Amino acid sequence: MVEVHKVSGAAFDGNVYLVLDKRPVLIDAGMMAGPTLKNIKKFIDPHKIEMIVLTHCHHDHSGAAPELKQATGARLLLSEQEVGAVGDDLASVSYLFGQQAPVYEVDETLMEGMVLDTGEWHLRVMETPGHSQGSICLYEENEKVLFSGDTVFPDGNIGRTDMYGGNTEELVKSIERLVQLDVRTMYPGHMDITDRDVNRQIQMSLRFARSVL
Ligand SMILES: [Zn+2]
Repeated sequence: MVEVHKVSGAAFDGNVYLVLDKRPVLIDAGMMAGPTLKNIKKFIDPHKIEMIVLTHCHHDHSGAAPELKQATGARLLLSEQEVGAVGDDLASVSYLFGQQAPVYEVDETLMEGMVLDTGEWHLRVMETPGHSQGSICLYEENEKVLFSGDTVFPDGNIGRTDMYGGNTEELVKSIERLVQLDVRTMYPGHMDITDRDVNRQIQMSLRFARSVL
């Protein structure tokens, strides 16, 4: 039985999820490594984490990536479309947080259709640009689980598209793909985890995104 724990601890951090499968994975890194590592240690030895997958390069999801990579020894994975943004203050929107862009080595680049086999789960990579050029979602078909990054949030909310690399038309197209999925549980990049009629919530996100086109 795979367990997912939200392990981010700092205010304003993007959500960080620890997926406890045969090969433990961290989804996103947040900005503050200290509180996150403390939370991870409640469940496992951080060295057991094999991969850190970033849903996108934004600072609130990647700021702690260098420190967490070092603390865990995990491989770091990021979309091929987003690699150019690493270390770039503008593309990683680090300036919004009054910080410099984190610099880290990407060990593997992700592309549409790739599957991350964590043991029981198979997380399929979906390229979902719009909030950023290389945003991805991860979908587990058997358990109907979606890690939605900053593409869609609960209650019909959507990622902003007014920052570097954002594009509302692309976001609409990406959400049009997400509504084709059957989602039982959504783990968003911000706000709370939800399992309440999630397909309907994503349809609301699509309506909202279309309305701001
Ligand atoms: Zn973002």
